[in-house]
Amino acid sequence: MSSLLEPTLSAFANLGLSQTLCDATLRAGYTEPTPIQREAIPHVAKGCDVLGCAQTGTGKTAAFALPIIQNLLAIPDRKTHVIRALILAPTRELAAQIAESFGTFAEGTGLRHAVIFGGVGKGPQLQLLRLGLDILVATPGRLMDLMQDGVVDLRHVQTFVLDEADRMLDMGFIRDVRRVITKLPSKRQTLMFSATMPREIEELANNILVSPVRVAVDPPSSAGKPITQSVYFVEQPNKLPLLATLLQGGEIDRVLVFTRTKHGANRVTEGLQRAGFNAAAIHGNKSQNARERALAGFKNGDIRVVVATDIAARGIDIQELSHVINYDVPEDPESYVHRIGRTGRAGRSGIALSFCSPHERPDLQQIERLMRLRIAAAELPGTLAVLAHAPRADQRPPQPRQSGGGGGGSYGGYGRGGSANRGRSRRGSGGRSRDARA
Ligand code: AMP
Repeated sequence: MSSLLEPTLSAFANLGLSQTLCDATLRAGYTEPTPIQREAIPHVAKGCDVLGCAQTGTGKTAAFALPIIQNLLAIPDRKTHVIRALILAPTRELAAQIAESFGTFAEGTGLRHAVIFGGVGKGPQLQLLRLGLDILVATPGRLMDLMQDGVVDLRHVQTFVLDEADRMLDMGFIRDVRRVITKLPSKRQTLMFSATMPREIEELANNILVSPVRVAVDPPSSAGKPITQSVYFVEQPNKLPLLATLLQGGEIDRVLVFTRTKHGANRVTEGLQRAGFNAAAIHGNKSQNARERALAGFKNGDIRVVVATDIAARGIDIQELSHVINYDVPEDPESYVHRIGRTGRAGRSGIALSFCSPHERPDLQQIERLMRLRIAAAELPGTLAVLAHAPRADQRPPQPRQSGGGGGGSYGGYGRGGSANRGRSRRGSGGRSRDARA
């Protein structure tokens, strides 16, 4: 028998997924498992604990959701709906996207799922919890809140997923996470995913996982289609004109722009709007409705530029995002890894541009050290080049941008060796005196 669907079915069936779940992958439009799916699904399906080093964009949601659903469906008596799978995610957007994936994959199975997060009324969430659920996706704060109200029963959880664990740490949620874990049955399956593995996350993993299978995949697009990264050295006041000039260039279709602060996100958004661009800000001070409206506008093309803070942008799942711009260089180098992971998703190539003012150079160096690569300098366009600060003794000479709009450094070396250190010596030891002219 041969059908067009045959290779798809066998690709996921080979990982131990049943026909029902293979059908779900078809519904989602997946033709081939991603590397994290290939590595994780068989272990999750067997009930093993898993520690996954992978970021959003690698297909990790399906890597845990598909086998979890399969295992839940294997339970004979499914008339009562008690929470048997709990997924914790750091942001509302990510939690909502995970829940949406569960909705797609579990369609027609009779399993009930819901998502709970803060910033919206508790009423509808309470109602869903009272009706009974099999799968609960939650952010830690609201979950703790509802647990204190006595409406969440976690005694039947058989699989617990801690997603984006490093971001939980960054956002100060680890204490809440630990408290939630104390309410879970000690005999359970635990899956933990993190884009980076700082010491605290390793420690947490040692505490909550039992003989975990470790799966690690390269960041999205690191194989074959790299994220092209480059940096513009630009004075702070010239960043907005630079952004407007790049947007006028027409090469950038839709772009996610990162700022360090909510205030900064508002300022950039207003500046862009004044210049005639369709832009919207997404950050913690915006209501859930405003965030959802902005995201919907971004997805349907009405909004070309979304300006976001790191925390708000975490987990935003936008397909075909060609560009990410770091309007501010992040202080925390791991945020850079997360930020540029927004582009080039699910195998698509992407371009990450950073605007680096003189006082942000130490932060840029930290990023280069972490990623073990040198981010190529891009030439400032026209008038901005004239306005730019004069290069200092140790500053790299601007390099022409390579074809494709970016400048060089491929996102393939994070945590590994390779060609990472090329050009390092040029920076020399003059780092401390670099800002002499600034
Ligand atoms: P995630 O890393 O789970 O946020 O997934 C990133 C994006 O990749 C989502 O939009 C998924 O729908 C998509 N995706 C996940 N798995 C596959 C697959 N096997 N084939 C194509 N797209 C996928």
